[in-house]
Amino acid sequence: MLGLEDKVVLVTGGNHGIGASIVEVLEEFGAKVAYNYRSEKGPHGALGVKVDVTDAEGMNAFAEQVENELGPIYGAVANAGVIKDNLILRMPEDDWDFVVDVNLKGAFITARAVLPKMYERNEGSMVFISSLGGQRGNIGQANYAASKAGMIGLAQTIAGEAARYSVRCNVVAPGYTKTDIIKGIPEKVEQALFKQIPLRRFADPKEMAWAAAFFLSPVASSYVTGQVLGVNGGQYFS
Ligand code: NDP
Repeated sequence: MLGLEDKVVLVTGGNHGIGASIVEVLEEFGAKVAYNYRSEKGPHGALGVKVDVTDAEGMNAFAEQVENELGPIYGAVANAGVIKDNLILRMPEDDWDFVVDVNLKGAFITARAVLPKMYERNEGSMVFISSLGGQRGNIGQANYAASKAGMIGLAQTIAGEAARYSVRCNVVAPGYTKTDIIKGIPEKVEQALFKQIPLRRFADPKEMAWAAAFFLSPVASSYVTGQVLGVNGGQYFS
């Protein structure tokens, strides 16, 4: 239906949370999906490999393995992400480096691992999972918001450079989504947050996965590149 049948897609951080939902939904659409992870394998996907997104050589080898075992990579989703929150004056440099390295440099490393073959074949679609925080900042998340805003600039630059090879690159910017990354939010804060969200709830991870599937689709979004889709329950209009 979306033209994703038998398409090979690489997803970073696909073992749980939003990444696992992306892997699951893409498989439902008939894609062959490979993912990487840092800790333990996930429940879905044709190929799961333990490799850190900050390891450029490891990610290049992962992309090569995917090509050899599943076939030509058509799509890639840079989803792996971390948080280490603190007010800026209390934020250690190590926490800044850690978050920017995984979220932003990891997306750069992922793009460099898959784009050469996409350029050669003159087809492909990348999706970056940014964040509402990257669109408008968020108190206590200077490192995270900067990394996620950086991902938007990176994706839009790739969209410009890759268009001549018929390769597209777009961004999904999730709002609060029910995964481990937000599980520490106290009930009282959660209720206060709901008041700021017009749809009055947090998102289900699958709601991010469908947005990613739309951008990957060579049918539904064939003329869409360099765009940011906020999937945030109306919390922010860009
Ligand atoms: P989770 O913490 O549930 O999952 C994060 C994923 O990233 C895991 O698969 C994790 O693997 C992987 N990961 C982290 N660091 C690395 C690394 N160095 N190398 C490889 N994989 C890594 O978070 P979510 O599912 O909620 O988040 C997914 C994405 O969505 C992130 O980029 C996040 O910033 C973004 N997002 C999430 C929102 C939310 O409210 N949940 C809101 C806005 C954006 P492992 O488990 O093995 O460590």
